[in-house]
Amino acid sequence: MDTTFERRVLVVEDERTIAESVAARLRAEGFTVEIAGDGPAAVAAARRHQPDVVVLDVMLPGFDGLEVCRRIQAERPVPVLMLTARDDESDLLVGLAVGADDYMSKPFSMRELAARVHALLRRAAKSAPAPEASPTLRFGDLEINQAERRVLRAGIEAHLTPTEFDLLTHLAAHPRTVLPRERLLADVWGWADASGTRTVDSHIKGLRRKLGPDLIRTVHGVGYALEVER
Ligand code: CA
Repeated sequence: MDTTFERRVLVVEDERTIAESVAARLRAEGFTVEIAGDGPAAVAAARRHQPDVVVLDVMLPGFDGLEVCRRIQAERPVPVLMLTARDDESDLLVGLAVGADDYMSKPFSMRELAARVHALLRRAAKSAPAPEASPTLRFGDLEINQAERRVLRAGIEAHLTPTEFDLLTHLAAHPRTVLPRERLLADVWGWADASGTRTVDSHIKGLRRKLGPDLIRTVHGVGYALEVER
């Protein structure tokens, strides 16, 4: 399968009119689009179509978008743009914790949605493995295999989302150095403004949950540092 020219998006939304207009907009942008209308269908479609990006509504029949995200990320990490019905903080935080990379609150503009999908793909392309230039990084019992995008701590593999992996490698590129949240947001997410710094916090939380609480130090009001021996 040549993914250089064909970009697949899976749109998961039970409201038919919204699903159709999102799909129409993304098809107009040149994407191949599949639609799933409930939780189980979404998991099956992700397995079948191997999408490059998933646009995922939280409120779904069957099981909800958070559970969909958890299941598809466990099978094969993929960038997820989550749609929430309102500016629901708890949906947002849980969404980021289960591996969503970005989110939008309804109602949203189709232009904004297309821009976010393009941004997710740009980030995924930028972080695609470049085996020659990507050595395995080792810090004590932490091992980051950049070519295979795998992380081990004390010999046990941690299953990171694509965003968590990118965040960790950014921190690992400057060990024991405090990186401001705004800079992480710009470098990892490609966001120019600082309105999403809580997104950084949530992903740091995810890394700590998967890799242990001692690895990343919080410098209050500033940012984060990877606390490892060089
Ligand atoms: Ca819905």
